[in-house]
Amino acid sequence: MRNKIWLSSPHMSGNELCFIEDALNKNWVTSQGENIDEFEKSLSVLLKNDLKVCALNSATSAIHLSLIILGVTSGDEVITSSFSFCASANPITYCGAIPIFIDSEKDTWNMCPIALEEAIEDRISKGKKPKAIIVVHLYGMPAKMDEITAIAHKYEIPVIEDAAEALGSTYKGKLCGTFGRFGILSFNGNKIITTSGGGALVCHTQEDKDKAVFLSTQARDNAPHYQHSHIGYNYRMSNIVAGIGRGQMEVLNDRVEARRKMHDFYIRIFKDIDGVEVFSEPTQDYYSNHWLSAIVVDENKTGKSREDLRMAFLEDNIESRPLWKPMHLQPVFADAPYYGTNISEKLFDNGLCLPSGSNLSDDDRLRIKKVINDFFSK
Ligand SMILES: *Cc1c(COP(=O)(O)O)cnc(C)c1O
Repeated sequence: MRNKIWLSSPHMSGNELCFIEDALNKNWVTSQGENIDEFEKSLSVLLKNDLKVCALNSATSAIHLSLIILGVTSGDEVITSSFSFCASANPITYCGAIPIFIDSEKDTWNMCPIALEEAIEDRISKGKKPKAIIVVHLYGMPAKMDEITAIAHKYEIPVIEDAAEALGSTYKGKLCGTFGRFGILSFNGNKIITTSGGGALVCHTQEDKDKAVFLSTQARDNAPHYQHSHIGYNYRMSNIVAGIGRGQMEVLNDRVEARRKMHDFYIRIFKDIDGVEVFSEPTQDYYSNHWLSAIVVDENKTGKSREDLRMAFLEDNIESRPLWKPMHLQPVFADAPYYGTNISEKLFDNGLCLPSGSNLSDDDRLRIKKVINDFFSK
């Protein structure tokens, strides 16, 4: 069997171990220490705007804390993108709230502003104004932030930006994760940079960051003994894990560049194959980190299905994966309201994510190219 080519695997810089060793030598083997402070600082320097970053054990935790800080409780409604990973929606249910799912638009595959406004109007007419909007930048592609921000502003609903897949992506020159009241970052093993598992909450005020740190460390009141007036969570990042993050931050730009080169590679391959569209920025306003390169296969034009291509890759031990299954189609969210015109459903039926890692070799690319060319020329 040939080596497995993964969709997106961890890619170390080599310096991670130095930061981990330093933490061990100083005995800061806990959820405090220099690595956490420096990792947070490097993220706020990157994001600029004087933003305050709280490092957590996952992006899922970061979304949960952002909802709690916004006061989301039992029976509330929270809007989110249907076309995403389940972690965009699950924290809504942790709060006892109800997710309201919005379909994608065709340009960026992200939250459709038209369906968003329709949903807000309809929910208000039914008696409940949504408490927050969680907008996702899928596969690194920025959402239509001008339109979405304008609607959020009009109805005075705070925006949480799920930029778990979009670190380094920009919309009109501004980094994803910096538009909303809160930004969400992920350092899960498959993301653009990783800490093995981890996330961050991007805040605009020290007050919000302080709340996030407080809630993520079991909500201890200021007292010599353990005193609690709030329910807390054990969500803070460990100082060991943050050491991996420091090593990864040194190479973030290289990683974005390498992923974008993978996207260029697929553009070149599919340029001559009629009926396959490579997911790309709609205009110059959008700059994607191309965390995952994705295609949509038109079965009528190619005579081939997405699923057959996936199987052809599998035969050569190459991983590929259908696009996210929309949340409004998931059994667990069968009862949740949904607004849209089934654009995400069609993407799910015909779309495929291709190997996109920053650590793929020229040999890997040759194998990928051969499978694609053989498959479509048969
Ligand atoms: C990966 C991901 C998350 C969750 O990140 P974790 O750090 O694994 O909790 C949330 N939203 C999106 C869109 C993701 O891709």
